[in-house]
Amino acid sequence: MKMNNKIEALYIHIPFCKNICTYCDFYKMIAKEEVQNKYIEYLIKELQLKNKLLKNIKTIYIGGGTPSSISLKNLEMLLLTIKKLIDLQKVVEYTIEVNPQDITSNLANLLSLMGINRISMGVQSLDNVQLKFLNRKHNIATVTNAIKLLHENNLFNINCDILYAVYEDNFNRIKHDVDYLENLGIVHFSIYSLILEEKTVLYHKYLNNEFSLMNEDEETILYYKIVNYMKQKGFIHYEVSNFSKENYQSKHNLIYWHNRYYLGIGANASYYYNNTRYTNINNLEKYYLGIDNNNLIYKERLILTKYEQMQEEFIISLRLIKGVSVKSFIKKYNEDPFIVFPFINKLIDNKLLFYQNDYLYIPENKLYISNSILVYFI
Ligand code: SF4
Repeated sequence: MKMNNKIEALYIHIPFCKNICTYCDFYKMIAKEEVQNKYIEYLIKELQLKNKLLKNIKTIYIGGGTPSSISLKNLEMLLLTIKKLIDLQKVVEYTIEVNPQDITSNLANLLSLMGINRISMGVQSLDNVQLKFLNRKHNIATVTNAIKLLHENNLFNINCDILYAVYEDNFNRIKHDVDYLENLGIVHFSIYSLILEEKTVLYHKYLNNEFSLMNEDEETILYYKIVNYMKQKGFIHYEVSNFSKENYQSKHNLIYWHNRYYLGIGANASYYYNNTRYTNINNLEKYYLGIDNNNLIYKERLILTKYEQMQEEFIISLRLIKGVSVKSFIKKYNEDPFIVFPFINKLIDNKLLFYQNDYLYIPENKLYISNSILVYFI
């Protein structure tokens, strides 16, 4: 099997937030400064331990949690280490996730100075009632000011995350938010539906009948209205939930979606290389212990068989509107996907998959039921 063995992408996880959003089930916590200091110290140690794997890094993504919520001193220490260990001349995309209320002139300046060239901002909504419902601490003025400060520091490649199907939602709210942000120069949107996860505040509120959710049909109609509107505005719909202006597709996320190797650093960070999926332990003390012993502790380490790799290739890459290149698949695995997965022909007959110009893809009008198509590959 021919596989590009190089690790081209690096993900770094910062699990700290200043407050907890009602819908969030990510690995995150509110922590004191001392806890954060120690974590950053160990993140740096893990980066140094994995130094040999950093030679071919082309994209870096610092996510969380909220990376912008840590102190400038800690952030600077981390960014300086990255600068020392990775040749940033070869890095084509360097993203950090931020919350709008954290952006100050000093922070924007630091990000720019350290070579960061893409920002992913958690906006979710510009509606005050919805923001309160989600327990987000910004408002439209905070967002506007954050974008202005980022632009003043030459950070123009900005993604905004938007949630839909939020409390009493409708298309006009999303249209308003997208229009407003696009007018401020936003070039990329990740637009996700609100998913009710167990163990979140929102889930309990739902069980207490404090609000109702949109039904599936309403949500599907809303999704297609959003897709059509984004395309009408000149955004390229390149992944189920992602839209960009030309040349602003997320290069880092495309490495995930093309099922290529990437490295992860930090507690609970996931990564994939040598045909193995790893997730670091999600307990800080155990995470530190593993690093101290030069023997990382994992929450999960799963070696994939060739068949599992091929399954994942389809499950992950069919999220892309372009789909899976049959030629690239054959080159990578030395196998014909039509033989490995004989049901593909049936999916094509049923118009659940299209095959055109070398690509197998889910037609746009079936994207909303993509999960029911992807289960065939499991
Ligand atoms: S800021 Fe992000 S990671 Fe933190 S609680 Fe909110 S959604 Fe979760």
